[in-house]
Amino acid sequence: MSDLSKLCIHSITTKPWGVEEAARKYAAAGVAAMSVWQDAVASSGMSHQAAGNRIRGEGVDVACYVRGGFFTALEGIARQKAIDENKRIVDEAAAIGAPLVVLVCGATPGQSLFESRKQITDGIAATIDHAAAAGVKLGIEPLHPMYADSRSAVNSMNQANAICDEVGHSNLGITVDVFHTWWDERLESEIAVAGAKGRLFSFHICDWKNLPEDMLNDRGLMGEGVIDVAGIRQWVRNAGFDGYEEVEIFSNIYWAMDQDEYLAKIKEAYLALG
Ligand code: ZN
Repeated sequence: MSDLSKLCIHSITTKPWGVEEAARKYAAAGVAAMSVWQDAVASSGMSHQAAGNRIRGEGVDVACYVRGGFFTALEGIARQKAIDENKRIVDEAAAIGAPLVVLVCGATPGQSLFESRKQITDGIAATIDHAAAAGVKLGIEPLHPMYADSRSAVNSMNQANAICDEVGHSNLGITVDVFHTWWDERLESEIAVAGAKGRLFSFHICDWKNLPEDMLNDRGLMGEGVIDVAGIRQWVRNAGFDGYEEVEIFSNIYWAMDQDEYLAKIKEAYLALG
């Protein structure tokens, strides 16, 4: 499909632009949707509701609010605080009109990944009814294992599917990001499982450059690295997903360039996927 009707861009991808400027530029470029990061709203000076209306007023849909999670902690009181914080994030998502909050689930040095995953399951279970009442879904985003030290103990689709099974709520599903999951030999089958269970909620694209200079902020444009982005997209589509394809790129290199030129590159790389 070589059109832009499924193209969504994360506000952080074009970080130098504020949320209003990004909405205007995306609209002019024919981009269908924006996934909005909390900090972008905070720095806009607008309320969440006003920001959502502003973006939609440009003809750009709000796909997702980023991000909740970080449910793990050594102390119970900190875990309760995280649950309260996630409920607040859900309320912000509802105010901006986002149907989904992506979860970076958390990991805490000093406790095992098994313990962290148990805490994540408990934290999500304690938040999901609040999300459902607000009309917001939660998407567990498995992160690459290189982030298992302190960002997320959920590192594979299999682990994410297991948590979804355990919590067992239709408002809980999974966000598949090619950057985090491309290495997984079970990726296709676990995507199929998630699709069959109606929990493939969103899909993030970018590329893993051969020998990135920075493990966080040197992601590539689709086609620039080693991931078969079109192939994984086909697996996701085969599993029934027909939502937005969200370009999420953290890159010191791209943030430093002219953002209009960068946006043109994003479109070109997206359309080259076929
Ligand atoms: Zn992502």
